[in-house]
Amino acid sequence: MVLLFLSVSSIETNILSFVWLQSSLKIGLQNDGLAAIIESMKADNEKDDFALSRQRMLKNDLKARGISDPRILRAMEQIPRQLFVPQSYQSQSYSDGPLPIDCGQTISQPYIVALMTQELHLGPDMHVLEIGTGSGYQTAVLAKLARRIFTIDRFEKLSLSAQAVLDELGIRNIDFRIGDGSCGWPEQRTFERIIVTAALPEVGEPLTNQLETDGIIIAPVGHSAVQRLVAYEKKGNKITERFICDVRFVRVIGRHGFSE
Ligand code: SAH
Repeated sequence: MVLLFLSVSSIETNILSFVWLQSSLKIGLQNDGLAAIIESMKADNEKDDFALSRQRMLKNDLKARGISDPRILRAMEQIPRQLFVPQSYQSQSYSDGPLPIDCGQTISQPYIVALMTQELHLGPDMHVLEIGTGSGYQTAVLAKLARRIFTIDRFEKLSLSAQAVLDELGIRNIDFRIGDGSCGWPEQRTFERIIVTAALPEVGEPLTNQLETDGIIIAPVGHSAVQRLVAYEKKGNKITERFICDVRFVRVIGRHGFSE
């Protein structure tokens, strides 16, 4: 509440100074320095708008629904989701739903990103395989919580755009690959965790063979428009399955996924 109050009052202060500066301009004080200050104030106000929406998302869409891991909440408080969505949808960056991105794909709903991350039980030394880079937002959240992320997307355009945003944010503990991720990334290494951010017909050996013992895979599984989000745990050579909830994802298109 206090935080919210401070943010609002700082916006008001900014707006007041902004109006003052604008009138100063009108009476002939115009110079480049002043214009630059005004531009940066406008940018600050926009940042504040997103900060308020981000706080609302944290409170209503994440905490209220059982996302309690403080590391995940902190990561999602820090990462500017608006940079991962197309310009025309930026005002909806913190809305409670998926949004369209390029190549007919979607950036996942923030709650689902948080839930899948929480179900992974990440440790700071872990290596994570992500199938479906998409916008790179989920990748950013994972990268804040684990040692290194290995992420694959079949669309070069999406991967390159995600790489640019993540680089701009200084998030560098990520290896990118463009290609079919339904086979995993066997040349790379085995992984303590695997997350699939598109629907698979099933999770089979191509992925479980690349999972370390005590590892976890989180994936949406199923043939219909609504899939089952499932956690797979590997104990020795045994895989156990746990249903988490119903979800709606675009499909994995590939050798061990669906055909186009
Ligand atoms: N986590 C992403 C979700 C993107 S949607 C985000 O929140 O932005 C799912 C992604 O899976 C799409 O980008 C799609 O291109 C990708 N995908 C589908 N089939 C794939 C495959 N066989 N290998 C790698 N990526 C695939």
